[in-house]
Amino acid sequence: MKKQKAKKTTHDDCHRCPAACCRDLAMAIGKPSTKAEIEDLKWQVRFNTVDVFIKSHHWYLRVKGRCIYLGRRNMCKIYEKRPLKCRLHRPPDCERFGEYHEVLIKTPEQLQEYLDSKKKRKRAIEKIFDAGKKIQRIKF
Ligand code: SF4
Ligand code: SF4
Repeated sequence: MKKQKAKKTTHDDCHRCPAACCRDLAMAIGKPSTKAEIEDLKWQVRFNTVDVFIKSHHWYLRVKGRCIYLGRRNMCKIYEKRPLKCRLHRPPDCERFGEYHEVLIKTPEQLQEYLDSKKKRKRAIEKIFDAGKKIQRIKF
């Protein structure tokens, strides 16, 4: 699991890019909340072609591969008719540098570690909140 920071780039970067965005399929998924959902996601990330990333609190499942329309010299063979998703995907908010996500989860262990750390943080915040309430009761 890695925490990464976004880097500033310009649209010109597409011309020098090895078309990273045409190689991986990223699908939005919900944050796993039930035991069954967590187990399902753990099962998926044990494949070395699959990982999960989190960006702005949104979860995504990423499957490594290659678009069938990616031609030689990393050019799109259907550029004029490429899907809307491809048109909207631009630097600097893209995977060229692998820095467009805040959290990257590659194994079931990393997923559990991330969920545990979130649970711990939530408990700590609840404790602070409860302590604040007690202080207010003492004051009034
Ligand atoms: S959008 Fe990003 S990943 Fe895709 S070709 Fe342009 S620079 Fe590369
Ligand atoms: S359709 Fe073209 S731009 Fe879209 S992912 Fe495939 S090769 Fe890339």
